[in-house]
Amino acid sequence: MEKKQNEQGKPHCLVLSFPLQGHINPMFQFSKRLRHTGIPKITLVTTKFFLKSVQNFPDACFKVETISDGFDDGGMEAVKPEEAYSRCSEYGSRTLAELVEKLRSSGSPADCVIYDPFYPWVFDVAEKFGLMTAVFFTQPNSVNCIYFNAYTKELKLPVMEDRIRIPGGFPVMDRSDLPSFIQDHESDPTRSEIMMEQFRNVQRVDWVFVNTFHQLEQEVTDWLSKFMDMRPIGPTIPSMFLDKRIPDDSQYGLSIFTPITDTCFEWLDNQPIGSVVYVSFGSFARPTVEQMEELALALKSLDWPFLWVVRASEESKLPKNYEEEIRDKGLVVAWCPQLQVLKHEAVGCFVTHCGWNSTLEALSLGVPLVAMPQWTDQYTNAKFVEDVWRMGIRAKTDDKKLVGRAEIVNCVNHVMGSETGREMRSNSTKWKELAREAVEEAGSSDQNIQEFVSALKLKFC
Ligand code: UDP
Repeated sequence: MEKKQNEQGKPHCLVLSFPLQGHINPMFQFSKRLRHTGIPKITLVTTKFFLKSVQNFPDACFKVETISDGFDDGGMEAVKPEEAYSRCSEYGSRTLAELVEKLRSSGSPADCVIYDPFYPWVFDVAEKFGLMTAVFFTQPNSVNCIYFNAYTKELKLPVMEDRIRIPGGFPVMDRSDLPSFIQDHESDPTRSEIMMEQFRNVQRVDWVFVNTFHQLEQEVTDWLSKFMDMRPIGPTIPSMFLDKRIPDDSQYGLSIFTPITDTCFEWLDNQPIGSVVYVSFGSFARPTVEQMEELALALKSLDWPFLWVVRASEESKLPKNYEEEIRDKGLVVAWCPQLQVLKHEAVGCFVTHCGWNSTLEALSLGVPLVAMPQWTDQYTNAKFVEDVWRMGIRAKTDDKKLVGRAEIVNCVNHVMGSETGREMRSNSTKWKELAREAVEEAGSSDQNIQEFVSALKLKFC
């Protein structure tokens, strides 16, 4: 009897996410897939500060443990990036080691650690304890490939050329298509180095997972696979929006902000099919006051109704009386259940910052995009949306790096009304089908998950 109970709890995976909405969502969804595929015990590990700041952490689904990143009461933003990074590595390594020891002595030892590459030190701790290691990239392989080339110094920094060919099967890229930490290496070399640290242990780790799917990034994935065992397992969006194989998996289940759900759907239900312009810049971006004003005035002048997510921290950037003035044609909310909104039949296009989750969500639900990248990987995602996947258009910036109101209006009208807009919509529908196929039983992403689970069971059961 005792042996049977032990078998039921093995293999035991620790899943360690980086505490941002855009990193937690895919990591949490990956965990749900692993459990569905046969990992009986998964423990989510997050920071003490993050657990304190999120009311609805889904501990009903998984056991939750915490480590310290050295900022248990917040304040990370107040110190220099290099100090935050080194304090996080130091405290994180020590408290993760304590957690692994605690689990061992409590009779529930961990067998494997799946971790976010923003915490590369996890590998060193796991190696010390002889645990299996898996790194999970929440950014696409196009972006991984650029960072990897910079990490191996194949791509020389700072990038001097305006047009650049990067090894790995890329189209020719403009400098402005590169992640901001590569474009702006000179102005922020520390953050740039920190981003490249993601690749520190990647060729020693047992498994490398990425939130993409093979058909979407075939060439770049095959190229990276020459250097590491690259396994796409995405899109990691709740199963009910794709293959419907995981019962009740209809939402991410964890939100840093409270969604204004009823108001959104009461409003959306009253809009014509395919008419609504949905606008959101995700959980983190902070557009300038000038950019918010251009966007606000563009949306106000559109002939289409719009739903705009403006987080509470950004609300003061809206023009005075804006919400009252647009009441007849638009709705501004502080947060929404984005997946359900994108699935709603009233939504016709998505004006997005091109965060990778938002991009994959739109692609998986067949919604064409107007891309307004703000920083980090969003520029590269926007390039691929426009030129490779052809499911959207990138709004152009002026010489002040601002997207003007006329440009926004043109882009929206183009996607909503033109013949090329119709082509984008039909390409989006094609990607939606391929995304579903990838996660269906025996699809390319599903196979990678199955192989991982089988290997874990073979080794630890
Ligand atoms: N999101 C949401 N409601 C909103 C805006 C965003 O649920 O009103 C979710 C969205 O579905 C996505 C995540 O927040 O899963 C944002 O991740 P992304 O990578 O797009 O951008 P980030 O926030 O990391 O910049």
